[in-house]
Amino acid sequence: MKPAAFTYHKAHDVADAIGLLSRLSADGEDPKLIAGGQSLIPMMSFRLARPTSLVDLGPLRRDPAATSIQLDGAGLRIGALATHRSVELATAQLGPDFDVLARSMRWVGHLPIRSRGTVAGSIVHGDATAEWCLLALLLDAVIVAEGPSGTREIAAEDMFQGFYATAIEPDEVVTEVLFTHRAPRSALTEFARRHGDFAVVDAAVSLGSPGPDGSLTGGRVVLGGVAPAPVRVPEAEQVLVGGTPGPELFAACADAAAQAIDPPEDAAGTAHYRRRLTRTMVKQALEQAWERGQTR
Ligand SMILES: Cc1cc2nc3c(=O)[nH]c(=O)nc-3n(C[C@H](O)[C@H](O)[C@H](O)COP(=O)(O)OP(=O)(O)OC[C@H]3O[C@@H](n4cnc5c(N)ncnc54)[C@H](O)[C@@H]3O)c2cc1C
Repeated sequence: MKPAAFTYHKAHDVADAIGLLSRLSADGEDPKLIAGGQSLIPMMSFRLARPTSLVDLGPLRRDPAATSIQLDGAGLRIGALATHRSVELATAQLGPDFDVLARSMRWVGHLPIRSRGTVAGSIVHGDATAEWCLLALLLDAVIVAEGPSGTREIAAEDMFQGFYATAIEPDEVVTEVLFTHRAPRSALTEFARRHGDFAVVDAAVSLGSPGPDGSLTGGRVVLGGVAPAPVRVPEAEQVLVGGTPGPELFAACADAAAQAIDPPEDAAGTAHYRRRLTRTMVKQALEQAWERGQTR
């Protein structure tokens, strides 16, 4: 199917984009921003989204800040129009603290999608299994949004509010995503029916540093595909605190994650199947995260 009719507008900068969204809404239109178009256009083609006008952020790419990827004291800053692929290439060179981003990108669609789709677009779209949404929770992302009343910062834990529902208002533009939590021992893994599909279940984990006695200070467990939005699983994280890294601890953590969730039933799988996948994905991710730390 083709998208329903819409008008097309180019935004020349962020202020222009905000102005266009406000003006079009005031005129009775239902405008939507478009960045890479890799989620919005399919949604429009299936008539799951029917914006009456599109405001294209593409021209903002002329400003280097819009596509920049920079590591500083606060963390890793990613401009609104940086693509999955550009982050994959850049973060592979930036040392261990954020290289889980580079290692996770192979799970996002296929190369042409990664070359057009943006990090900010993925986070605003808010698919419950989107790798960027899980990584935002894992690495304490701060989403910077500009709107008619100024700039605000949204913590990842407040961002994902339900089924494709995020904290971004219709008249706001995300200008930057800042990842603040450094996680050299981390990994994301997933199960999808075909390579490039969205995951049925995905898991992103990190492990804290082992103390002098070898026990862990803690860790994080984030799951996708088990609830309307991606979730951290405190019950599983608690198991890691003070534990000795190894197969027994990782299996116990994975069991706790599988028991803590109440996954949905749909065409991709039953709740029982998703629980089993969760156990496998969490265990695999923990093993990978631990091995990653050992090789450094
Ligand atoms: C075949 C296929 C397979 C895919 N597989 C995966 C996958 O495995 N994992 C995965 O995570 N993704 C997958 N995707 C989606 C892809 O990652 C998209 O790139 C991403 O979800 C959205 O980024 P975008 O720049 O294309 O956003 P768009 O499609 O342009 O926009 C998506 C939404 O975000 C809003 N938006 C975009 N930018 C901004 C901004 N700066 N400020 C405010 N709102 C904004 C738009 O208004 C829209 O609501 C797949 C896509 C396809 C077509």
